[in-house]
Amino acid sequence: MKNNKKKVAISACLMGQKCRYDATDNLDVRLLGKLEGCELIPFCPEAYAFGSPRPTMDLIETEQGIKAISNLTGADLSPPVRRYAEEFFAGHPDIDLYIGKDRSPSCGVCSARIYDRSKKQIDASGRGLMSEEAVKQGIECWDAEEYLEDRAKKSGYVG
Ligand code: SF4
Repeated sequence: MKNNKKKVAISACLMGQKCRYDATDNLDVRLLGKLEGCELIPFCPEAYAFGSPRPTMDLIETEQGIKAISNLTGADLSPPVRRYAEEFFAGHPDIDLYIGKDRSPSCGVCSARIYDRSKKQIDASGRGLMSEEAVKQGIECWDAEEYLEDRAKKSGYVG
């Protein structure tokens, strides 16, 4: 039987999964309440690619574009995150809504921090690598805080 629930892709940490870099979560009960009745499909590209706990990474503007760079090793961690994102959306072609954790270099929608090579912040409204792929798919995308506060007209809505 066809499932008619709205399908929402959501950062797993917002649902209480302990997948952050320090093996904690970002459980947001108010957000989950607002999404009641939807089918929630959690994702976490970083835990999938690097496990949890793990070293942190930041988005750095380079000559070749924005990359996720490990704060421990300086390695470019973008490829596995991008690969996860592509595979996630290929496996879920019918997502109605995407909600990403604010400020994350993977999941931030309009809130990811971008730094230059000297680690000076140059943008606080960047897009995480997973969210980039969601936008590319034409999905309505929100930062969690924006969605909760219903501030679409200001900055959160991307779709
Ligand atoms: S913000 Fe995204 S990458 Fe970071 S823990 Fe949450 S789901 Fe995983």
